[in-house]
Amino acid sequence: MSAKRLTIALAGNPNSGKTTVFNNLTGTRQKVGNWPGVTVEKKEGRVSFNGIDLTIVDLPGTYSLTPFSIEEVVARNYLLDERPDVVLDIIDASNLERSLYLATQIRELDCKVLFVLNMADVAEQRGTKIDARKMSELLDVPVVFTVGNRGEGMQELLRRAVELAGSPGGTPRQRRVKYSQDIEESIARLLGFMELKAAGPPGYDRRWTAIKLLEEDKIVTERLVAAAPQAGMEILQAAQALRRHLAERFDEEPQIVMTAERYGFIAGIVREVQSSSTQQRVDVSRTIDLVLTHRLFGFPIFIFFIWAMFQLTFTLGEYPVQAIEAGVEGISATAGAMLPEGLLRDLVVNGIIAGVGSVIVFLPNILILFFCIALFEDTGYMARSAFLMDKIMHLIGLHGKSFIPMLMGFGCNVPAIMAARTLESEKDRILTILITPFMSCSAKLPVYVVLAGAFFGPRAGSVIFGLYLLGIVLSIITGRLFRSTLLKGADAPFVMELPPYRMPMAKSLLIHMWDRSKIFLTKMGKVILVGSVVIWALSSFPRPPASSEAGKGPNAAPAAAARTSDAGGQADLEAAQRRAQKAAQTEYSLLGRIGRLMAPVFEPLGIEWRGGVALLSGFVAKEIVVSTLGVLYATGEGEEDGDLEKALMDAGMTPLSALAMMVFVLLYLPCFATTAAIRRETGSTRWMLFSIGYSTAVAWLMALFVFQGGRLIGLS
Ligand code: GDP
Ligand code: MG
Repeated sequence: MSAKRLTIALAGNPNSGKTTVFNNLTGTRQKVGNWPGVTVEKKEGRVSFNGIDLTIVDLPGTYSLTPFSIEEVVARNYLLDERPDVVLDIIDASNLERSLYLATQIRELDCKVLFVLNMADVAEQRGTKIDARKMSELLDVPVVFTVGNRGEGMQELLRRAVELAGSPGGTPRQRRVKYSQDIEESIARLLGFMELKAAGPPGYDRRWTAIKLLEEDKIVTERLVAAAPQAGMEILQAAQALRRHLAERFDEEPQIVMTAERYGFIAGIVREVQSSSTQQRVDVSRTIDLVLTHRLFGFPIFIFFIWAMFQLTFTLGEYPVQAIEAGVEGISATAGAMLPEGLLRDLVVNGIIAGVGSVIVFLPNILILFFCIALFEDTGYMARSAFLMDKIMHLIGLHGKSFIPMLMGFGCNVPAIMAARTLESEKDRILTILITPFMSCSAKLPVYVVLAGAFFGPRAGSVIFGLYLLGIVLSIITGRLFRSTLLKGADAPFVMELPPYRMPMAKSLLIHMWDRSKIFLTKMGKVILVGSVVIWALSSFPRPPASSEAGKGPNAAPAAAARTSDAGGQADLEAAQRRAQKAAQTEYSLLGRIGRLMAPVFEPLGIEWRGGVALLSGFVAKEIVVSTLGVLYATGEGEEDGDLEKALMDAGMTPLSALAMMVFVLLYLPCFATTAAIRRETGSTRWMLFSIGYSTAVAWLMALFVFQGGRLIGLS
């Protein structure tokens, strides 16, 4: 046999330990991509075993292969179309009955499958024994035990998988779900008819195809007709007739009957292979849940956790921030010293380093935030938070599961929008994606800190908290509005899964955290780099005509120079001069011109043209609002903190207009990376444009309301 290359796919329920097994098998040699044409992430890794090249693919976690959600479609299509050499079904041994539903469905696909009974330790702790030999016999599949988080059973797993790949396939499968007589008869008749017409989606198991046609499976139906339009339609008609017959016979849709029968089959297997020792372990998870999902205490505890998460993010994040800032300044100074004065230096120092540096500074906060979120997820608490929020989310016509992306939105909207993938219903997903940007992401914080700090002094904290609250309230209102207009429909019924609490594993936590941060960093990194260069270019060109001012050396400095002749004064003066020059340059530049063109839009909000330009630049990334303000008000990096604030006040900004500006920043169009994520995840440019337009309109109106309303009641 020359097969030196095998593809192994990992399938299984969410939380069954797939990713853990995947990481164990592949170590760090993995690559993450997207499934072609869909938005679910694809993980692929390579490993060599006994001289055979194995490609391991981590399929999305699903409970079944019924094509309801994207994950299910992706997983099923992969198995059907890519035909991996071996499928490993990762089964949560402590949850056998639930896991076996997917297992039997994979079994029906007639591919080479190996059952991996993971979480063997948990099952054992609970006093559950599973007879692997019997299971293997009953279902005619090889079965192995593993403990993913301790890496136990991995070599055996690979050995059996390779062995299975080499075994002759295509033996008639005896041990599959047997349906009740009427259904089996219908399957047989449909099979016969398909044979007669010699049609069916190429490469699909015939029996399986027949079953799916009886279940009115959309994808199989489409493929059947695509493969043979004429014969396909005839087969469909036959299937329709059989369906009607079955529906009458059972007084129930055939797919419901078949699902029930599959569960019956599974219950039978479980009874055969699983035995519980009489000494049932006390279920720890249930005890913890008595407190954490308590009717009264559950919610305050949850709020406390969220508060603690932000506290940790911002206080702990402070420390490395200073070091990074120093580092960025160091690099900036070195680059400044190494490069000759001129355009290139300006681009590198004021464009690239200043722009990218402003984002890198937030890396610690983001890592901590994502670490906390990974902790919530890995311990199983995230599911509880969804459970606790369920009632509130129903106010918007969504269920608790939608809360998870919203919660993540406080960190960064990009992974938050991607987290909406877990929602089954398309409408729920789009609605969640549309309201998530109102969750104030960490990038907006620097803007609040600067403005609230300057204008609200000791009350800055409350103002910032109020902004977060405003974002949440508006997302709820928006949710209600869209639910009753654009995205009408009841929320999809769904059962809140409460997985058992688990001790998080450090490695998995770190991988989880890093996966998210990496997405953030690479996507943002690219965008920010390009964005900074664009902003720099727009503010640097065209150059004002060389006037006498530009040529002035230190000697020709204004009279002020005479007053301070010591060295320090001289440096101050030079800095002031550079600032004045820069300000004149910016005003003359394209950015300055755009700013003045846009001025009438921002005027009613109490924001002058430079503020407007800064807001415009915030489309690249919200942090850039601050650095653009810095450029426009001509305070450079490394100057005292008070400078920008003073410059803003001098330019006529008041507490009221600062508040209006912060409200605008909170609500207006999501940053570039987020808009790209919205387009990707909704698969539609129209939703992206809608989101941009809607949020900006809301921002403008709310800022107008704040500024003009405030003036009406005599604030300034
Ligand atoms: P996935 O959703 O299927 O990818 O599941 P993960 O690989 O993310 O695993 C979910 C959780 O189960 C993680 O916290 C793992 O550390 C943990 N886990 C995985 N395998 C085992 C195991 O065999 N025993 C125990 N006790 N925990 C496990
Ligand atoms: Mg996973």
